[in-house]
Amino acid sequence: MSEETFAFCLNCGTYDAPLFHGLCPACYQKSLPENKLTINKKIMICTTCGALHLPGMGWTRPLDYSEFLLELDTTARALIPTPPTAIVETEPIGEIDLSQSRPEATVRLIIKDQPIPEFPVLEESASVTFVIEKGICETCSNIKNRVHNAVLQLRADRRKVLETEEDLAVDIVKALLRQTISEAHSSYLLDIVEVRGGLDFLFSDRYLANLAAQAIVHKFGGSKKETFKLVGEDKDGTKKYKSTIVVRIPLLRTGDWIILDNEPFLIIKHDRLGVIVRKKGVGKAKRYEWNMVKESVPINSQILQIPVQIIAKLDDSFLVMDSRSYETFEISLQDMPFETEIGMNITLGEYEGKRFFYSFDLK
Ligand SMILES: [Zn+2]
Ligand SMILES: [Zn+2]
Repeated sequence: MSEETFAFCLNCGTYDAPLFHGLCPACYQKSLPENKLTINKKIMICTTCGALHLPGMGWTRPLDYSEFLLELDTTARALIPTPPTAIVETEPIGEIDLSQSRPEATVRLIIKDQPIPEFPVLEESASVTFVIEKGICETCSNIKNRVHNAVLQLRADRRKVLETEEDLAVDIVKALLRQTISEAHSSYLLDIVEVRGGLDFLFSDRYLANLAAQAIVHKFGGSKKETFKLVGEDKDGTKKYKSTIVVRIPLLRTGDWIILDNEPFLIIKHDRLGVIVRKKGVGKAKRYEWNMVKESVPINSQILQIPVQIIAKLDDSFLVMDSRSYETFEISLQDMPFETEIGMNITLGEYEGKRFFYSFDLK
């Protein structure tokens, strides 16, 4: 027995017509869901940032004009049901005058369906008219009301945060915002406030504040500590907390002198891991992690600077003369940089009776 095929329409019985899912072109077209081909839809635009409130979607991120047109096009296509085999074209949307109180925009769609090559192209047109209402999105409203649920306090250990450190921290936070804000419009940095000892960053939420705190600690080292304060309850009884994150950057920084094993050392670099120190101009640089220098305090302001002239080179020392008191004394060769030559005017430092190379410049 050979298989038989029945080339007639399952619906009307027509022979010799091309069939798709057993239907002739006319019956196929009748089987499609009946389209409501003219639709009016209300949408809202945020007049502050350009975000759109779309049916069933909530607020988008802020949109510029071309993104806005694209969003209308996409939404119109989603509103008109079409067979999966159809190709939908849209006509360009005309200029929309957003200065009107309730502007309208119409998207015209041409729906072309040819499920199989043997079928004629079935063509329909539809249109969606958007009535655009003006309003303010949730985020812009929160910003307007200065809502902030997290504060990042930038402080330093036992000192003020320097202006250069503040500038760097602001740059770090702004770079972070550029990466994250475009995706999550609901997160924002409300303000940066100058306070005693440092800066306060006011954030929409603790997620963003913690990201910023991590980025700052990653650059500067130091500690991050978060505390919560109950500020109220939502209507459904959910407790609402405000978060405070203190980022405390280390006391020591590049250019500080510190005492290690009773010797003065200069910090030539600091980073998130710790400090790199050396005797100024002398000896190898050594790295210390932050917890190894946590007891150290800068002695910069307690170093007495002594301008001297190199008078002579002895067996294992230089003979130098204090340029102000004309007193002469010796300083060990190994405590001086190898570039030191007779006749040079240099500056020594003195701290708790110990004299050491301070700088080649006269201060
Ligand atoms: Zn038929
Ligand atoms: Zn907005």
